[in-house]
Amino acid sequence: MLNLSYRKAAASILMAALLLASGCTTNTQDSGSEPVSATGFMLDTVITVTLYDGLSNDTLDGALGVVSKYEQLLSKTIEGSDVWNINHARGKPTVVNEDTANVINTALKYSELCGGAFDITIGPASNLWDFKSSTPKVPDADELAAAISHVDYTKVQVEGSTVTLLDPEAEIDLGAIAKGYIADKVVEYLASRGVSSAIVNLGGNVYAMGSKGGNDWTVGLQDPFKRRETPIAAVKLKNKSVVTSGIYERFFKTEDGTFYHHILDPKTGCSVSNGLASVTIISDKSIDGDALTTSCFVLGLEEGMKLVESLEGVEAIFIDDNEQAFMTDGIGGENGIPYLTTDDLG
Ligand code: AMP
Ligand code: MG
Repeated sequence: MLNLSYRKAAASILMAALLLASGCTTNTQDSGSEPVSATGFMLDTVITVTLYDGLSNDTLDGALGVVSKYEQLLSKTIEGSDVWNINHARGKPTVVNEDTANVINTALKYSELCGGAFDITIGPASNLWDFKSSTPKVPDADELAAAISHVDYTKVQVEGSTVTLLDPEAEIDLGAIAKGYIADKVVEYLASRGVSSAIVNLGGNVYAMGSKGGNDWTVGLQDPFKRRETPIAAVKLKNKSVVTSGIYERFFKTEDGTFYHHILDPKTGCSVSNGLASVTIISDKSIDGDALTTSCFVLGLEEGMKLVESLEGVEAIFIDDNEQAFMTDGIGGENGIPYLTTDDLG
């Protein structure tokens, strides 16, 4: 494990190198050999797909269509989605799309791997937090206690394409894994359309597809303590998923200054407070990155690092409250994934 402490430095040079973390354009456009890009608001976040070859507005529309299609299955708030149907079945078996069953099975695998730190039955607890409200409130302790008594991934049964909640009060929330799955599906779709160079950015869940004219992509990592799109560092890589979970995504501060964010400890239903500010996972599949960022965040630095080091082909960067970065051996170093700090860039 490598440990590195950041010194504050002007981010302007780094920003110049950062195409990815910073959101690209807002409209579909087509300008010869320039990349073309489309942005939409789906999955409760801003999504952007940018093509660097196979430039076609049809393909861009198709990519956004893929996001929309999976949102219709995996959202817990869209009435009639698979997840909505499961959550409203009062414990009865629900037949779902194969994709939904795949996502739930993968989620359960990660719950097992991390001893329940990752738990998609967080729904009853996550429902009590509204990070978007203009007057956000900390849920009542009794309500939270009642909610977490229904958080238990072992009560989710999947048999083929039939999902049953053995606790009828349980509720599934795929917020910590769906974006990863959907990013992989968008990449599959783009490949099927002949695209070999693209950036898929689902609200910070980034897939750097192929290469940029044979060179590495530079993917910025959000500074957990700064406004959106301000990088704290960057990695250079090809054909990889880069996902970050952090305290900055959805949060509020109470009048007494207590900070609450959206990554919840299944044991308490409250925001995890363990000294971590963000976890970034680099992997081949974005579903793994998404599940692991949340898992590792809840596990904390030591246990999270152990989990990542036990897995093949997965690298991680943990940033703590003191802006110190801790990373797996595959990042930095001579043969590792190049890691750029503001200092590296002068
Ligand atoms: P992410 O940004 O990928 O870490 O996902 C955070 C979202 O996943 C939250 O907004 C909740 O919807 C849900 N969530 C929060 N805590 C957990 C947890 N411990 N396990 C699984 N899902 C969670
Ligand atoms: Mg996640």
